[in-house]
Amino acid sequence: MTALAGRHVVSISDLANDEIEGVFRLTDRFAKGLQDGPLSLSRKEPRKRTKSPLPRRSPLSGVCVDRILATVFLEPSTRTRLSFESAMQRLGGRVISVPDPGSSSTAKGESLADTIRVIASYADIIVLRHPHDGSALLAAESLDSQRLSELGRRVPIVNGGDGAHEHPTQTLCDLYTLRREHQRIAGLRVALCGDLLHARTVHSLAYGLARFGAQLRCISPPELRLPTYVKRRLELEYQCTPAEYDSFTDLAEPEPAASARDRRGRGRSTRPLDLDRAREGIGRLLDAVYVTRIQKERFAEPSLAEAMRGSYLVDPLLLTRIGKHTTIMHPLPRVDEVDAAVDADTRAAYFRQAAYGVPVRMALIALLLGKRKLGGRQSGQAAEPPTGEGLAAPGVSGVRCQNPACITNHELGARPRLVPVPHHCSILRCAYCEHEQATHD
Ligand code: ASP
Repeated sequence: MTALAGRHVVSISDLANDEIEGVFRLTDRFAKGLQDGPLSLSRKEPRKRTKSPLPRRSPLSGVCVDRILATVFLEPSTRTRLSFESAMQRLGGRVISVPDPGSSSTAKGESLADTIRVIASYADIIVLRHPHDGSALLAAESLDSQRLSELGRRVPIVNGGDGAHEHPTQTLCDLYTLRREHQRIAGLRVALCGDLLHARTVHSLAYGLARFGAQLRCISPPELRLPTYVKRRLELEYQCTPAEYDSFTDLAEPEPAASARDRRGRGRSTRPLDLDRAREGIGRLLDAVYVTRIQKERFAEPSLAEAMRGSYLVDPLLLTRIGKHTTIMHPLPRVDEVDAAVDADTRAAYFRQAAYGVPVRMALIALLLGKRKLGGRQSGQAAEPPTGEGLAAPGVSGVRCQNPACITNHELGARPRLVPVPHHCSILRCAYCEHEQATHD
């Protein structure tokens, strides 16, 4: 068994840096295989087989031939679900799917834990998307408590997005894209822009970038800054304190805090990312701009989401101010934050980023199913203990998580687990959604 076989991927922290690099090496090979054409044979294939009158099969299509992937998507998705399904089919495996919440017994009130336990007996690997924060960990734990006794095998849970919490496989696609575009991640200056509070892709990506030594700049309306728990983890685990800006203009022309306050005091600019004052340009300041949409489905008050609309925009004017090699990325779907006129520019990488989803996920599936081994140096250790071990510390009993979107507030029978934050004994962190609350609340 390889180091990754049978492991859950609930957070990007479940994969160590050298494991992520191993995923990328395999992705390169699979991407090359796809590029050569799914039906073409590799150059190493013995010559006599090329003479066969039978249709040729891609060597990729034999990798997972006897395995089944289940996609359980209890929230809308286009790219994540279809790229996982495409990846499994490219590898010769089969797919079963719950494509939306209405098509499973969760609609009848079945618990997530029960749903996952049942599906684990029908499939070899499960990709879960769920509207509640921390649901992927709860699903993984529900299998860990029974997997060897009842199932007799390990069924990995892959987090395909759990509420506003994390989206680790999108981060693999994002880091892979940066590596393809810039041949490195270390030292890159990356601006995370948009709804940083609710965008799960940003949370996982911030950890991933910090771990690989990139420098983070956060650009968002003040109301949509990174959540406290993300900032705390960046600081405690990666000694990273990202600089925060209201706009690209602020990034390009740092001004004393007092005048920034004055300007904000005069009310929100109609277009906070207005670049007119960015005379020096921001080209030399950024290697990549990662834009996210306003995550309107996560706002308690829909009118607030509406008020934030149009508060940032990537358009042809921005293209004139960024560097020749500054990559524009977006996890998609975009709504109105990236002008369609940007698409034709070679720096717009978002459709390439989406396309990498297939080879990246092919590599991950093959590794988690033990069908391929990590190449190169292999530590066999995750950066943090794999899911279910590190977080299994006993929680403070009798305390509920105060995050209304936490899975423990929705799943019947779920036991909340609040644990003290290291070096901050008056703060508790939920082991599932990671939201923080004071010990006395
Ligand atoms: N597709 C990404 C996600 O599922 C980004 C988004 O929806 O804005 O998180």
